[in-house]
Amino acid sequence: MDLKDIKSLTLEELTLQLTESGFPPFRARQVYQWLHEKLRDRFEDMTNLPEAMKRQLAERFFITALQPVEVKVSKLDGTRKYLFALSDGIVIESVWMKYKHGNSVCISSQAGCRMGCRFCASTILGLERNLLPSEMLDQVYQIQKDTGERVSNVVVMGSGEPMDNYENLIRFIRLLSHEKGLNISQRNITVSTCGIVPGIQRLAEEGLPVTLALSLHAPSDRLRQELMPIARKYPLKEVLKACYGYYERTGRRLTFEYSLVKGVNDRPEEARALASLLKGMHGHVNLIPVNPIQERDYRQSSLSNIQAFKNVLEKNEINVTIRREMGRDIHGACGQLRSQYIRGKAHPEAFDKAPILQSEDRGEV
Ligand code: SAH
Repeated sequence: MDLKDIKSLTLEELTLQLTESGFPPFRARQVYQWLHEKLRDRFEDMTNLPEAMKRQLAERFFITALQPVEVKVSKLDGTRKYLFALSDGIVIESVWMKYKHGNSVCISSQAGCRMGCRFCASTILGLERNLLPSEMLDQVYQIQKDTGERVSNVVVMGSGEPMDNYENLIRFIRLLSHEKGLNISQRNITVSTCGIVPGIQRLAEEGLPVTLALSLHAPSDRLRQELMPIARKYPLKEVLKACYGYYERTGRRLTFEYSLVKGVNDRPEEARALASLLKGMHGHVNLIPVNPIQERDYRQSSLSNIQAFKNVLEKNEINVTIRREMGRDIHGACGQLRSQYIRGKAHPEAFDKAPILQSEDRGEV
């Protein structure tokens, strides 16, 4: 019999499964607490359960536990970039960032991605597979254990398109915010999408007050289609209508991400077009200097262009911030650590090999 993924079960589902096998409901609460509050990865560590029950659980279920393959720590601001191995050997990336208002983790929702955005490293090798809810959760769990500090914010902005793994995303959000788990406020969870309209509409109906971020990157369909193939399927008008619907339904202010690429989307005329596009949208714009990836020759806009772009938006009363670059010294662009690692495995001689760290060493890097 195939083992079941116990960390992806809600408390209600776990209770049902265990009571059907004759255990009282409080046993399900104990197991849930070990998994989601005490963050334990082995049934044998669940010390308040009877031995026979631990054995039975191990015969029916597996516990997702990501293995850190590499951890890079920024000397500038303490940002930590993790490369984790899943149980089938596939690797994914997550990032931990320390802000004044708390610690934030950026998680991957898929191994790879099939959206094909031109500037993004995560999509270059295509989609490997969707992540299970437990594999999304465990990125947060392992990082909280490794840092010993509470995670207060989670952004689904790592590799993958969350709307392309919708059911697992919703389950992940419910587990992450459950009061008997890490209890992370849904208001502190952000889901970033390249603009899959049915996904945005569906999320609006879930009744979850999470923040929606739209990867916009261009003020016109023509330019957006050049950068993001998905824009051919969902024109801006429809995407923005769905975003506005999300705002109306949830009352949550929207975030619009705009990565500035030199000479491509960073001119004052694009800033003006963006301002008129976003008028009355109840959102704010996050300007991100594009992170150059080796596979494409996109370059970062100059600081003065970025500032000028911001000024145009501000003059037009659009809320705007320039995203502070975290972990500048360790960041390749999103997904680069992973793609470097995969390529290094295929051609080890070409890989600039960083040491593979054992768990004992992790605190010292
Ligand atoms: N698929 C989702 C979430 C993952 S990407 C989405 O598209 O929103 C998270 C954000 O990083 C997106 O806004 C994405 O467009 C942006 N991004 C990806 N590669 C980048 C790069 N090289 N430089 C700057 N931003 C990048």
